[in-house]
Amino acid sequence: MSELGPITCMGCGLLCDDVTVETSGDDVRLRPECRLGARWFAERTRLTGKPPATINGEPAEVGAALARAAELLRSARRPAVSGFEGATVEDARAAVALADRIGALVSHGSLDGPWAGAPAVPLRGSSTATLGEIRDRSRVVVIWREDPERTHPRLLGRLGFGGPGERTLVVVDERETATAARAGLRLTWSRERDLVALSALHALQRGLTIRLDELASELSGLLERLATVHHVTFVYGAGLTAGPGGQRRALALHELVRSLCQERHAVTLELPAAPGTRSADDVLAWQTGYAGSVDFASGHPELVMATEPLDEFDVTLRVESGGSGGGLVAGPDAEVWIRTAAAGVSAEGTAHRLDGVPLALQAPQADSAPTAAALLARLLERVQG
Ligand code: SF4
Repeated sequence: MSELGPITCMGCGLLCDDVTVETSGDDVRLRPECRLGARWFAERTRLTGKPPATINGEPAEVGAALARAAELLRSARRPAVSGFEGATVEDARAAVALADRIGALVSHGSLDGPWAGAPAVPLRGSSTATLGEIRDRSRVVVIWREDPERTHPRLLGRLGFGGPGERTLVVVDERETATAARAGLRLTWSRERDLVALSALHALQRGLTIRLDELASELSGLLERLATVHHVTFVYGAGLTAGPGGQRRALALHELVRSLCQERHAVTLELPAAPGTRSADDVLAWQTGYAGSVDFASGHPELVMATEPLDEFDVTLRVESGGSGGGLVAGPDAEVWIRTAAAGVSAEGTAHRLDGVPLALQAPQADSAPTAAALLARLLERVQG
């Protein structure tokens, strides 16, 4: 058995930086125990056995794959750069530079499927806090339609649950989840009623009289809890913001939090879709002035505020995308794939935790494969050349 670490785990956006990895053959365990983190490490280690690149599924040299990817991007009518699930800050910076050069749209969200609408946070801002502030100050944490016990297994512990000090966990979810099982207060209306519930909470909090149906007792129970504390946190994610109307619901949550701030400190903590999402978002914000989806098609960065799905992209470059097992993928049908060294396992780098705190990633199992940042820089040279 070998022991690696301590390292920063990139198994989810929590980026726990106190992790030791124990490996014995194919068996991987993490200390402190986390099955999601162990799965991440094992999966990323297995990528080292793959060829350095493929073109149309056939093994290829990295140089030839880069040349084909550059050709595809140069001839693209409407290119997009997406993915970033396992990306570092360095990868995202290189991707934004390339997108700027080729006039692409950059997005860490899904470019097909149901469209959630114009983005709430870049347009209206949000009240946020670090994990440490929430742990030390929040006495009520409301988890809105998320199951961090499954997706971010150490989150509740990092927020102080199970430790000293009294705090109440409120869970809004009609599903029986592992997180709901730990709740001190459960609110079980269906997802379709979230916008009504948030708007009603906002109105009640402002002292307005409104007509309410069966939601009334659940909402007043929550408001009573909130009235007794000086600091409250709302944890949310794709359960609230994804799908049609998702960003309208997010806007309603942030409006409620803003209103609650008049009498107490109220903050939000967004659970990112993937470990690299926050890094990509922050890089976009630094380099373009906007987070979310940013379009370079006009020659300068523009925040994508579309309320409807975007038009078709003929060439997509996916950067460290979970579905493709990491790497760089280019082409309309994933024609080119180039293996990258997995950040946090075989490549060092920097990543931003879900609350925006930057952390160093280590390379306990160094690999000769290039990082996505290095490949993107080479791709930019070829596209320019
Ligand atoms: S909670 Fe997330 S970051 Fe922390 S050890 Fe588990 S998978 Fe890794």
